[in-house]
Amino acid sequence: MSDQSTVSAPEPTIAPAPSRVAMVCASCGSTDVMRDAWAVWNTETQEWELGNVFDDARCENCDREVRIDEEPLPPDTASPALPVKPARFTVHISHKQGIDLYAAKTAEGALGIVAGFAREWWEHEQVPGSPKNLSDADVVKQYFDHQETTRGEECYEIQEGELAE
Ligand SMILES: [Zn+2]
Repeated sequence: MSDQSTVSAPEPTIAPAPSRVAMVCASCGSTDVMRDAWAVWNTETQEWELGNVFDDARCENCDREVRIDEEPLPPDTASPALPVKPARFTVHISHKQGIDLYAAKTAEGALGIVAGFAREWWEHEQVPGSPKNLSDADVVKQYFDHQETTRGEECYEIQEGELAE
């Protein structure tokens, strides 16, 4: 029997639904309204984020500058905010030259690192076929299956957890 006590499911946390509002044109009630604002580049997220919002508002329906009213909406219970679970994955790839160590934020990212390694060495290791049209998972499976059948020295391991110093 396998020991499953070390596997703990993440605690589901449900954020309270924030009170939601609609921004509507004070003249015609249309929600097709916009405001002047600055966008600020966020280097972390690689996205433009809303910076300063100015008072000038415009209604597309009225096709002129208008005043914007806030209309409260019923709380959205259908899609509560999902908890963001910070996860880190450690990737070890053992090969003839030693062991490469990588870190990834997601399991998919970790698999992608291994797949990148497999694609790079695919021809060199004379793995049959081409990795071109294969998914990351298939690339990794075929490459390391080939290592096993040819008694190659390469293997990989993906571990969930922080990189040990
Ligand atoms: Zn309007």
